[in-house]
Amino acid sequence: MAVPRISGELALIDRIRRRTEAQPSRALRLGIGDDCAILRVPRGQELVVTTDFSLEGRHFRRDWHTPQSIGHRTLARGLSDLAAMGATPLAAFLSLALPKSAATDTRFLDGFLEGLLTLAKLHNVPLAGGDTSESPSDAVLADIVLLGGTPTGQALRRSTGRPGDLLYVTGALGGAAAELQPLLATPPSEPRPLSPGPSPHYFPQPRLAVGQALLRRRLATAAMDLSDGLSTDLTHLCEASNVAAEIDETALPLHPLTQTLLPDATARLHAALHGGEDYELLFTARPGTKLPRSIAGVPITCIGRITDKLPRRPLLTLISTSGKSIPLKPQGWEHLR
Ligand code: ADP
Ligand code: MG
Repeated sequence: MAVPRISGELALIDRIRRRTEAQPSRALRLGIGDDCAILRVPRGQELVVTTDFSLEGRHFRRDWHTPQSIGHRTLARGLSDLAAMGATPLAAFLSLALPKSAATDTRFLDGFLEGLLTLAKLHNVPLAGGDTSESPSDAVLADIVLLGGTPTGQALRRSTGRPGDLLYVTGALGGAAAELQPLLATPPSEPRPLSPGPSPHYFPQPRLAVGQALLRRRLATAAMDLSDGLSTDLTHLCEASNVAAEIDETALPLHPLTQTLLPDATARLHAALHGGEDYELLFTARPGTKLPRSIAGVPITCIGRITDKLPRRPLLTLISTSGKSIPLKPQGWEHLR
């Protein structure tokens, strides 16, 4: 069947604009179509801003991910950063460079937009603008900018964890890394399995409601999102807060997919500690703070504690199932490299 084709940047922008007309938003006064978007920052709030590249070959592959998954993941990365600060999304901006083949193929653009805008709708974030260009290579390149609001002076940060705090994660760990295994195991000559539907790797769910609840109820002392893997991201939190941390192996909430897709306990532990792109939240709370078992339907698990940073001591320590203290190096997963 012939695929309808679009020609020119204007037609492409128009195709995007038409799909964004029914976006209810109190913050957005003027969206796609003028030189700038106009936003209203809610009274008593300040802006938090994040930007994330999604580059073909680095963050996704068109032979591994459907256009829907690529669009979803592009937005999810930015939304997860907002979630980590406890922010409420105000608007998204998308800069897109498409190779000629993908720019004229409506299947790619429409699928990408469907994935992106379905997630946007779920979190009430309007697509308020962007930029469009032909890619200088064969790669699809997307950059997402997210603006959010937090009550002035109250955004959750990485730098405010304190010794004695307990360490928590949302959801389950290692699922996204486990799902990559069948893809990596397929020889390049064979067709690769494509997005199978809702899943932590193809359709990660940013934890916005949890982040907002942590901020509003003043439950967390520090927070960040898990994009590069627990060992790497926790190292960042420890460095920013000038503290060390211990993780209890027995407490780690392993994603059920690590059971079905990974061969043994060692591989499961590795996925939970170092696997990237879980997009869960990592946060700290005072030991006296009572945390609910779940927030907004997402399980909350205590996985360890913050300790004093001491000279000649590792920043991260894993307390193994047998009670042994094992120094833990950051070995976060580097996307598709
Ligand atoms: P200008 O050259 O003045 O920057 P453009 O022609 O690039 O204007 O964009 C026209 C309008 O379309 C602007 O409102 C811009 O924000 C929007 N736009 C362009 N590309 C995208 C995109 N990929 N996604 C969303 N909006 C876009
Ligand atoms: Mg422009």
